Amino acid sequence: MDDTAGVRSHDGTAPQGGRERPAPGPSPAHSPRKVLAHGDLLRRFVEGREIRPVHVRLDIMGPSAHSRPEIGNGRESGNGPESPNGTDALGPASGNSPAESEIPLPTSEAIALLRGFAASGGRAVTFRGVREATRHPGYPAVCDAGHEAGLRLGLVTDGTRLGRPDTAECVASTHTWVRVALPAGTEAAFRAAATAPGRTTLASLLDDVGDLRQSAIDPDFRIGFHYVISERDPGDILAAARAARAAGAHYIRFDTGRHGGPPGVAPALRQAALLADDAFEVRLPRPAAAPEGASDDDGRRARFDRCHYSRFTVAVDAAGRLFPCPQVSHDPRYDLGDVVADGWPDVLDGAARAAWDATEPPATAACGSCFYRPQNELLDLLLGGRVALDDALAAYADEVPSTPHADFL
Ligand code: SF4
Repeated sequence: MDDTAGVRSHDGTAPQGGRERPAPGPSPAHSPRKVLAHGDLLRRFVEGREIRPVHVRLDIMGPSAHSRPEIGNGRESGNGPESPNGTDALGPASGNSPAESEIPLPTSEAIALLRGFAASGGRAVTFRGVREATRHPGYPAVCDAGHEAGLRLGLVTDGTRLGRPDTAECVASTHTWVRVALPAGTEAAFRAAATAPGRTTLASLLDDVGDLRQSAIDPDFRIGFHYVISERDPGDILAAARAARAAGAHYIRFDTGRHGGPPGVAPALRQAALLADDAFEVRLPRPAAAPEGASDDDGRRARFDRCHYSRFTVAVDAAGRLFPCPQVSHDPRYDLGDVVADGWPDVLDGAARAAWDATEPPATAACGSCFYRPQNELLDLLLGGRVALDDALAAYADEVPSTPHADFL
């Protein structure tokens, strides 16, 4: 067997931590080149014709970049008080009631938003946000409606609710992928590291993930763990990889955060990578991001002068506000309009979005270190004709005949 099978870096660069040989590129499901699976859409893009986003990252638990205190006064009926308290951490909520700091997008509005997105050409939704999406009181109803509208669903979660029958049934019947935060690889470290309310034991989290892998209906279903390396014992890295693999997860993804992790974790990552095989992927950290204010991840100037990526994928917050991407969705300066109140067509064709399309993003406040730079640079090359679209499509099709989760751009 190829001893690099299943070992990936997030972006195809040599993984942080000093591996002696280059890693293979990211898996097709996570590749920034995934947009090349959308030939018709790309053709419209390079010809300067109208395109609509196919993927939305939706934060349904809030709070949003704008405060919407009226939402906290009973708009989500039957779920208790929801007034914001201005805190940033997940509150101590348990059961069905959101924490006081959570301001959910009302279920009926979330359903309308997803149906409208599907009607305007949307194909995929990722539920993600600072707050835990599965704590939304209407999460199963929202997911059922989105699924029935033809959307594919992905979820980034802390995993605390994956064992609840209603959540587990919802995820198994409607989701295409799930990424679960793994705070630690042993029970002792798990107890010390886990801060999310409702967390029980590492064993129960692993069981829940294994159960979902068995019960999920979508033939393309993938579930895996996300482990952020911190100052803890490097031995926990290997323990986490072993636990993820034993649970039946498809992968474990290691991250060091935007400013790099602690030194000395390379040996542990090398050992973890040895657990990878054809059935279990180990994704190693990308290099640390540049300091605040630098041009991009490796210090060179970003090679794009418009945010092309936000033509294909967008973010919506819990107030129904559209933003170009999650990286800037905390910042009201990037607000492009209210897709709940005004509908997708009006906002997508509106003046705010047109102005954003004409903006040079690398010069703007939150885009100086664009997380989606590889996508933007590829799209810029195609738009400018410096890479011929037909050549790029043919090369990609040759390399990746079938792109997993292609609509989650
Ligand atoms: S961070 Fe990147 S993807 Fe996001 S809005 Fe800025 S340029 Fe676009």
